This record gives sequence, C-alpha cells and structure tokens, in this order.
Amino acid sequence: MDNPLLAQDSLPQFMQIRPEHVEPAVRELLSENRARIGALATLTAPTFATVVEPLEELHHRMARTWSPVSHLNAVLNSEALRAGYNACLPLLSAYQTDLAQSEPLYRAYRTIAEQEGAALGAVQRQLIEHAVRDFRLAGVGLPRERKERFKTAMLELAQLQAKFEENVLDATNAWSWPVHDLHELRGLNEMLIEQARRRAAEQQADGWILRLDQPTYVAVVTDAESERLRRAFYEAWTTRASDRGPSSGRWDNTAVMEEILKRRHEAARLLDFPNYAQYALATRMAHSVDEVLDFLHELAAAARSAAQAEFAELEAFAGRELAAWDVGYYAERLQRERFHVSQEELRPYFPLPRVLGGLFEVAERLFRVRIRERAGAPVWHPDVRFFEITAASGEPVGSFYLDAYARPNKRSGAWMDECIGRKRLAVGAALPVAYLVCNFLPPGEERPALLTHDDVVTLFHEFGHGLHHLLTSVDYPSIAGINGVAWDAVELPSQFLENYAWHPQVLQRISGHFESGAALPADQQQRLIATRSFHAGLAMMRQLEFALFDFRIHTEYAPERGGRILEILREVRDEVAVVPVPEWNRFPNSFGHIFAGGYAAGYYSYKWAEVLAADAFAAFEESGVFDRATAQRFLDAILSRGGSRDALEAFIEFRGRRPDVRALLKQHGIERTAPKQYDADGAGEPA
Ligand SMILES: [Zn+2]
Repeated sequence: MDNPLLAQDSLPQFMQIRPEHVEPAVRELLSENRARIGALATLTAPTFATVVEPLEELHHRMARTWSPVSHLNAVLNSEALRAGYNACLPLLSAYQTDLAQSEPLYRAYRTIAEQEGAALGAVQRQLIEHAVRDFRLAGVGLPRERKERFKTAMLELAQLQAKFEENVLDATNAWSWPVHDLHELRGLNEMLIEQARRRAAEQQADGWILRLDQPTYVAVVTDAESERLRRAFYEAWTTRASDRGPSSGRWDNTAVMEEILKRRHEAARLLDFPNYAQYALATRMAHSVDEVLDFLHELAAAARSAAQAEFAELEAFAGRELAAWDVGYYAERLQRERFHVSQEELRPYFPLPRVLGGLFEVAERLFRVRIRERAGAPVWHPDVRFFEITAASGEPVGSFYLDAYARPNKRSGAWMDECIGRKRLAVGAALPVAYLVCNFLPPGEERPALLTHDDVVTLFHEFGHGLHHLLTSVDYPSIAGINGVAWDAVELPSQFLENYAWHPQVLQRISGHFESGAALPADQQQRLIATRSFHAGLAMMRQLEFALFDFRIHTEYAPERGGRILEILREVRDEVAVVPVPEWNRFPNSFGHIFAGGYAAGYYSYKWAEVLAADAFAAFEESGVFDRATAQRFLDAILSRGGSRDALEAFIEFRGRRPDVRALLKQHGIERTAPKQYDADGAGEPA
C-alpha cells in the first residue's frame, strides 16, 4: 500500500490521508524504529554521531508521521479516524515508555557525556544532559527493587488520576437545576435559556433545566440576577466530588487526593528527591522550593492591598456585604458601568484580514522576516491558509497553516502545534512547519470574519508559540523550538506577544471597521486598554491561592501525617484570600489541573511565565516596542534557542538580570511601592 503517512520528503498530503492508513503506518514505523534502536543500543563505542543523531532522526520521523494524524483527529474528526487514532495510542505509549526506560540507551548517553562531552558544542551537551536527566527521572538507573516500586507507583498514580477525573465528571453530570419561573433566569443570555428549555422538553419536564457544565456555571455566577440561583450553582460547583454540597459523599475525591499525594511523594523519594515539588522542579526554570514560594509570597504581598481595595470598592458599588457567589456578578456590572466595553461591539473593528496583516507586520518588524501566503499547498479544509516565512536574505525559514474558523468536528479552543520540527542532521535537514488553530466565528456572505478583542489576543498568543517553533535555530529536534523548554517558561513567547495586541500603536494598525475602514476610535481604545487591569489585584490573589495551595501540598506531604489538604488550604486562605470563602467550599476536590493534569506542583507556572513575559516586554517598552536591537537580542537569547539552554540563563542574557515581578504589577496597575490610596467611604476610584 502506498501510504501517504510514510512520505517524509514534502508537506503532509492531508487530503490523501485515510483512516485506514493510520494504524499500518504507525505499526510499520514503530517496528522499524524499534529494530534500529535495538541496534543502536548494542554499539560498544557509542558516540554522538552514531547514537544521538540517528535517534534524533528516528524521533523526527515518528513525530512527522504522527503529527498529521493527531492534528486531523483534532480538526477533522470522524468516527473512523478516531478509531485509528485510538488504536495507536497504546502502541505509542508503550514505545515511549520503553524508550524512556531503556537501560542500554541510558548507559550509551552517559558514556557519550563522559568520553565526548568536552569535545561537543554547548547545544549538543545540553541535549545529552536533558536526555540523561529524563532517563533518571523515569526511574532508569534505580536498583531493581526500587525501580519496580517506582513503576508501580507511577501506574497507580495514573489510575488514581483517572479516578479523580471520573469523579469530577460524574459529580458534574449528576447535578442539574430545574427552573419553573422564567424570572429566575433573568440576566442570562438567550442561547442559554433556549438550551435549558430544550433540555427540559427532552426530559418531558416543564420549564427549564440548567446543567452544571463550565459555560453554564460561568454564565450563572456572572450574569444571573437571582442570588438564589447564583448561590445554588456556586455551592454545587465548589463542592463537586466532595463530602459537602448537594451530592455530598458520592464521588468523594477526598481519599483519592490523599492517595495521589502519597504516590507522588513515594515516587519522588525513590528517586532521592525530598518531596514531589523538588522532583517536579528538576525539569523547570525555577530551581528550588524556596524560589517558588518566595516568588508567590512576593506577588501576594504586592497585590494584597490592591485586591482589598478592589473588593471594598465592589461592596460599596453593590451597597452591601458580598458573598463569594456575588463577586462575579457585581464585578461584571461595575466593569460595564465603568468602561462601556462590549466584546461583541468591538467585532466590526477587527476583521481577520486586517488583524492578520497587522500581526504579521509586528513579527516582520521585530524579527526581520517576511510572511507571505502561498497558494496551492495541500490543506485539510478549504478554509485553511498556508503561509511561508523567509529571512531578510530571502532564505526560507519555515511555514505554517492557519485554520481559523469554528466548524463541526473540530476541537474547541485555540492552539499551536508542531507539524514538522526543524532538524539539520547528517542524514538530512527539514524546516519547521506549524499549525495555528483557532475557533473564530466564520465570515458571512457579505462580510469577513470579525473578531472580538479576546479573539485578537488569542491569535497573538498562539502566533507567539508559533514564532517560538518557527524561528528556532536549533538543529536537533528534541530541543528545537518548543521542545525541551521548561514547563514554567514555555508560555513566555506567547504571553510576550499578547502585549502587542494591547499596544495603542498596534491597535491602530490592526483595527479597521469592516465597512468604513475606520480604526477603533481613540476613546474606545483607551477604555479597552483600561479593562486589562480591572480587578487585577483580585484575580492575582485568586491565582496565588491556587498556586500556593498546590505547591505547599506537594512540598509538605509527610507519610506520618498525610496530606493535610484542608489544613493547608485554610492556612493559604488566611494569607491570601480577599473574598470570604464559605467553610464548606471544597474546590480542591475538583482541582483537576493539579490532581489529574500536568500542573502538579506547577500551577505557579502561569504567574511565573506572566512575569517573564511582562518583564521581557518591559525591555521593549524601555527602548521602543519595535526596537530592532532589543528584538534581535530577544531572538538570539531566547526565542531561537528552544530547549538548548537553561531558561534562566537565557533570560538573564536578554535582560541583563534576573526576572523582576514589578513589570507585571505595573502592567496590571498594581504598584508595589505605595499602597493604593482609597476614599474612606469606599465609593471613590482607587488611585
Ligand atoms: Zn499558550
């Protein structure tokens, strides 16, 4: 069979890829790779050229074949494709586990490091160092008995994490709220009400039925005028999978969380780390527990008074004491009254072609590249566009697809993913190719696609990830672009580029009414920019509560006294909570990011990367946001370097010092030096 997934010499032929190609291609490649890896592992005198380069090539081939499959599964899903995709997941996972835990390869990498290390370049040394580190973290060098225990702990952990997620899902699905009086739905949008009515009809019930999915929960606590409704939703949402609330005791995650912390601690101890947080930091930009805790405490100290002032002002605005379920609702009212900015009303000013043109111009001015559309490249849907990036010299740099619009059978959200990774190896070279995927409202017959400003920020964000992938100068796939970049630093380029979507000069360039061509009026632009720092203190304190809680439970776990989950939560709240939280709130029981997802001892990364991005952007503000020399330094020190160097060293090279939280505080209008002035009656604006 002529299988298009096995072609390695051109762009993927998306329209020729059939579901029946998937499993045979993956199986063929896996067995080929396994055979070649087996041969590499037996070499008696391993060298960078004879082991590492060939392995990099094998990774590249695997990624190249699998990337279009997982991509199509996300953007052009069908039952047949999903079946092929799912059939391959266990094969790939077994392959990756075998590779990660291969003793002979581990020995080979260590031999190369010892014998060849001094003769290798810095990038090559970093590659080896990463690989050796990852082998160790996968439990490879452990004595047999400990290794078995480590594997068991990891396996049990995977099951417990899945159980955690199941409980949250079941608890979420089990609850709904019947409404018999339309008055109770006042404030909610028509779409939601219509959905609720249809759901009731489907169940042969009168009135309306609201479910507890996230969009509904968010809509209710922000928009519902009925306090009773807001409270009911808040209680149901924050007690999911716990011993409290409407389904208390069923699907309770309390014991599961305890077991998860226990296994993580055990796994970390087996590898000789004092605790799980320290283990997690082994691959991060932050190096020590204290560094992270100091960072979080510093932000908390800086943002507390701003948050308190914001909350006092909100209570003054509401004219009464506010409960946790009132905050979102009154914040929304206050924001509307103060800024008169509606995302929907901004749409006509942000037609996609205009925004794209402006975005490309930003990248072109900063990094001296040219971005041009190329017709005729094979795509998976007629709406998809293809662009090429060339250097000032005319030399090709890379290319990317833009799949901008929402449509059925496409996963929601927005993301950047690697289609082809950059490589320059003895066996051949490849230029990077990226997928940029968004879910914007499609164009109409008579009008282009019109974006909200939130959409614009999303586009800039994903394009920032894209530049990280595309402008890399690293030759080895495992550390090129976004690969091998520390988890807490990987959002730096994306959040950095977001700043341009808020800059007056750029707003002027990317806005243009789709009928009149007029740029966004100056007063509207100012009000839009002002929304960026609205309730920044409160938002910051809330994120810090999550981050401190996550980091402390993973640092302080001790087998003899267990996880102390609620105790630590209370201590963290005493330190950082500004909005009063009811005693029965059990948010940890549904905190999937840290108990089921990849953010364990890593929730701080959100703020960490935000600080890096704000501080990096501040360097541009100091010398002009389009300053060429600054941009070149950013490119040379950070953007082009992928995972080929320590993230902190890279930042210091660019900024001339360590990251400083002040840039982020300033960006959000939170001044650290002087506490916010505030009118005694609470009615005035914070200074
Ligand atoms: Zn991102």
